[in-house]
Amino acid sequence: MNDLSGRKIFPKATQHPSTIAAQGLGWVDEANHALTPGVHVSSTFLRDTQNRLPEGRLYARADSPAYDQPEAVLAALEGGEDAMVFASGMAAATCAFQSLTPPDHVVAPKIMYWALRHWLVTFCRPWGLEIDLVDMTDLDAVKRAVRPGKTKLVWAETPANPLWDVTDIAGVAEIAHAAGARFIVDSTAATPVLTRPFEHGADVVMHSATKYLNGHSDVIAGALVTRTRDEFWERAQALRSQGGGILGSFESWLLTRGMRTLYPRVKTQVANAQKFAEHCTRHPAVLKVLYPGLPDFAGHKVAAKQMQGGFGGMMSVRVKGGAEAALATAANLHIFKRATSLGGVESLVEHRATLEGPDSPVPPDLLRLSIGIEDASDLIGDFEQALAHAHARVTA
Ligand SMILES: *Cc1c(COP(=O)(O)O)cnc(C)c1O
Repeated sequence: MNDLSGRKIFPKATQHPSTIAAQGLGWVDEANHALTPGVHVSSTFLRDTQNRLPEGRLYARADSPAYDQPEAVLAALEGGEDAMVFASGMAAATCAFQSLTPPDHVVAPKIMYWALRHWLVTFCRPWGLEIDLVDMTDLDAVKRAVRPGKTKLVWAETPANPLWDVTDIAGVAEIAHAAGARFIVDSTAATPVLTRPFEHGADVVMHSATKYLNGHSDVIAGALVTRTRDEFWERAQALRSQGGGILGSFESWLLTRGMRTLYPRVKTQVANAQKFAEHCTRHPAVLKVLYPGLPDFAGHKVAAKQMQGGFGGMMSVRVKGGAEAALATAANLHIFKRATSLGGVESLVEHRATLEGPDSPVPPDLLRLSIGIEDASDLIGDFEQALAHAHARVTA
């Protein structure tokens, strides 16, 4: 599928997504037939003697060839018409909201990526967007919140940080569309491996590519993918190139490389997470495991309907003994690393309440776990010995 002439012509992919990802759509460098693409660093492009821009590229803030491959791969993996990469997941998400016009009305979840909810309340509301935060798992609540003709955007995240609430994508899409609103899904935790939101009615998909898409904890990046190129998309494109929240060349290259192993990484993470969650639910020092792959989890049925091949690599574990026991457990982990972020090859643990502060819905006994690609029995063993240490300390 090497497109030697025009960029941004995304051929309809006939291969399986895992093949597309592994080969980066099979693109090769036309100039030297290099199988691995180069790092495009030029900020500017040569005009011909007729003062034309032969490739239509003027300046890298709008037209960098560094984005062509990661954007084409992402559009193909999600099954969309176009994609844009950004300097971060937050740059992608904020671009979507800033493409609206105050006083447009927005419906967003109460439980969502903390920094985005915080930004909506501290910057977007004062800017003039009218924002209602609702329980996105409750379709009746979403129905009550939308205002036909006035609501321009419904935002969902599924499974949602850090309680892993599952939103019924098809259900919310129907409500959003009936009200004349666009529906955007933050699919960071699900990845295109497990959920393809366009198949369930979403209009735009957002990713923090920092997480699973890149997968190696060495890039900050974000993406928006659209089902169709429409007015909203054109506005978002203009906003990215004018606002300048663009991804660096090397980061674009790393992201393309990272996505080549997306499928085997996520498959391993999902298998590890399912084993880990099932093991932990039976542990006497554990109060509750929040994981969509557990049959008694509130969102399990909806997750089973819209996720394929597993329930993700993210979970949260509530330990008995409150914040003290949770912090002591985290302190005694060796294989799990105490660090924020998620979706990398290495397993991470984080006490979210420390970060999110008093207005957070996160219980103080909760540890968020990002399950990596290590051996599952090592991860289980590490967590068990940490729980034992913490339990001994708290009951001493
Ligand atoms: C990390 C994350 C973001 C923000 O992405 P950055 O790349 O950190 O800016 C948004 N949504 C979810 C679900 C995330 O996990």
